[in-house]
Amino acid sequence: MGEAPLFEDIRYDRPAERVARITLARPEKHNGQSTRMLYEINDALNLAMDDDGVHAVIVAADGKNFSSGHDLTDTAKIGDLRPPVMGFGGYRQPGPEGYMAREQEIYLGFCWRWRNLPKPIIVAVQGKAIAGGLMLIWPFDLIIASEDAEFSDPVVAFGMNGHEFFVHAYEVGHRKAKQMLFTGEPIGAAEAKQLGMVNEVVPREELESFTLAMAEKIASRPMIGLKMAKMSVNQSMDAQGLWNAIQSAFNLHHFGHANNLVMHGQLVDPAGLETIKREARASRERAAKE
Ligand code: ZN
Repeated sequence: MGEAPLFEDIRYDRPAERVARITLARPEKHNGQSTRMLYEINDALNLAMDDDGVHAVIVAADGKNFSSGHDLTDTAKIGDLRPPVMGFGGYRQPGPEGYMAREQEIYLGFCWRWRNLPKPIIVAVQGKAIAGGLMLIWPFDLIIASEDAEFSDPVVAFGMNGHEFFVHAYEVGHRKAKQMLFTGEPIGAAEAKQLGMVNEVVPREELESFTLAMAEKIASRPMIGLKMAKMSVNQSMDAQGLWNAIQSAFNLHHFGHANNLVMHGQLVDPAGLETIKREARASRERAAKE
């Protein structure tokens, strides 16, 4: 098994035979995605893929919420922490060119790379997964949610189409995807299961043990069978045009960023933050009354 490497924003461990686990470990920041966290997840997935003793991987999160999305306070530039992985180039160019390159690398590039890794990856989700938080869930294979989990992408309020890995319509169906995006409202665990976006819903205190038991069961299968099964399902979605659809939306996403730069002098419409905060406040007040 060897020495576990040192990560700062995640942990990597082997909780059972043939099972590796990656845990988002910034609970005080609601697991906001720093550039470091994304590179560390990518490195940890590489460890798990390169280790023939690992047949299944769990992605989990410490704390109350799975992930609040991109860490907007993060100032790390591409190349500061690790050599770039996806080979797009242009990361230090000014304006939309450099910004698109950044998102090609750590958002779209990583998500698509992770989606195509051949070993089964199971995500355990509790609490909130917001916008970019979904990019640490949707690229993977199975989703186990605790009863309190909720999934949202409110970034239309920022003058954007949605987060960078645009698979919304595939995940929740096209009607619900539009509702989710237009209103910014979250989809709860039970509804997410009904929609086929979540595999199983369990009580919060059983999330870890239930996910581990499923990972162990999966990991008892031969790797070659698991790999071929995963690739076959993925290819059936590729045949429907999944990758082309994702890239089209990514291009619109970057029209959105460029438009916001011209209109507001920043990558997102600043009015969006107030809208999102106001609605979150109202929903907390409603919940407190119930
Ligand atoms: Zn973006």
